[in-house]
Amino acid sequence: MVLAELGASLRDSLRKLNSGVSVSEEQVQEVLNDISRALIEADVSVKLVQEMKNKIKVTLATAGDSSMNKKKLVQKAVQDELVSLLEPATKPYQMSRKKPNVLLFVGLQGAGKTTTIAKFAGYYARKGWKVSMVCCDSFRAGAFDQLKQNATKLRIPFYGSYTEADPVLIAEKGVAQFRKEKYEIILIDTSGRHKQESGLFEEMQEISAAVRPNSTVFVMDGTQGQAVYDQAAGFHDAVDVGSVIVTKLDGHAKGGGALSAVAATQSPIIFLGTGEHFDDFEPFKARSFVSKLLGYGDMRGHMEAIKEVRNSDGTKELEANMRKGKFTLRNFFTTMENMNKVGPLSKMMGGMGSMGGGKDIKNFKFMMDSMKDEELDGFVDLSLRTPERNKRVLRIAKGSGCHPAMVENMLHMYNAQKPMLQKMKGALDPKAQKQAEH
Ligand code: GDP
Repeated sequence: MVLAELGASLRDSLRKLNSGVSVSEEQVQEVLNDISRALIEADVSVKLVQEMKNKIKVTLATAGDSSMNKKKLVQKAVQDELVSLLEPATKPYQMSRKKPNVLLFVGLQGAGKTTTIAKFAGYYARKGWKVSMVCCDSFRAGAFDQLKQNATKLRIPFYGSYTEADPVLIAEKGVAQFRKEKYEIILIDTSGRHKQESGLFEEMQEISAAVRPNSTVFVMDGTQGQAVYDQAAGFHDAVDVGSVIVTKLDGHAKGGGALSAVAATQSPIIFLGTGEHFDDFEPFKARSFVSKLLGYGDMRGHMEAIKEVRNSDGTKELEANMRKGKFTLRNFFTTMENMNKVGPLSKMMGGMGSMGGGKDIKNFKFMMDSMKDEELDGFVDLSLRTPERNKRVLRIAKGSGCHPAMVENMLHMYNAQKPMLQKMKGALDPKAQKQAEH
């Protein structure tokens, strides 16, 4: 988890309130001092911490003899104040599926811009958006190759040039091409360095004026703690930053400082970079983040995922089939997809392992797309290795771009699950469900 140490200290401090039946003034004071110390150790500015402490004290004093028990009151006040520390009033740009969303990525060289663009592209491509990337960093040798390599790995179209030296021209051409081709998201990578320091902001402004992005995303290195404030404020003023992505927060003790400093510039943080791999990328929502930090679990996010899963057409069909004791390949894909959506909950509860991860789901989707309805809906038996069935497996492998062994593996998983799911027929009986709840 990001900021694991800070989380552990905060939880330890709050746990101290558990011991007594009633909570004394001294205990509250001690807990607030502990929390302040932990935040300062995570490099949150002393001034912000002091302000937060005072606000919590005021909340507690004005609550009077509230019916809410004092321990809960302290916990809630701490939680609310941490959220407001990390949540700027400004809302980030919301992408719309009805038009091209052009996003200009800016940030200093080495901050992790190119890596972040790849993560961002992968994140939305997985959600089914049509994504493209433009590299207009003509300053750093190898910048275009790096973006090209990432794009190829992610199977995302890209635009760039080895010969054109003018970044504005490259940006214009790239964006025009992808707009014409109706891409929903167009990501522009800019240079993070310039011959002269002041030239960097000028170049960004010129590119911005030429392509008129819907929003500018500032990528910054989170390892410097609160020292990032000046940089964040500088970019915020120079290029109208719409949102921020803070990188390199994997296990870094100063992350709390970086996050609160960025929030203090009134720029909303949208994602956190938590490692070098494309999957090391987390959407940032202050309330969920704080809940996780304090160990309360991100219940709101999970409840939303569960609701979404419950109401989907796939789940309804799965339940209808299960009532009849049926479990088809189409139903199997739905269970895999659902598991992936509510995955974080199962991960949090310590189960599941790696099966059905993002990569598997993607391959399953490709396989499913190259299967015929008769196969998906259980009218063809794919469990016995007859020559006709083997031909089908080869066709699915070819159509999906997956190795035949992967198709076999998927069928193996399906066949292993089938008897289990078929036996659950009774569990869907409303009466049985009621009993289980009691
Ligand atoms: P750019 O110059 O801003 O485009 O930065 P790059 O994308 O080339 O990244 C610079 C270095 O930081 C590379 O070695 C990346 O692998 C690394 N990096 C980027 N994001 C993260 C992150 O979230 N965590 C870690 N640990 N490293 C990162």
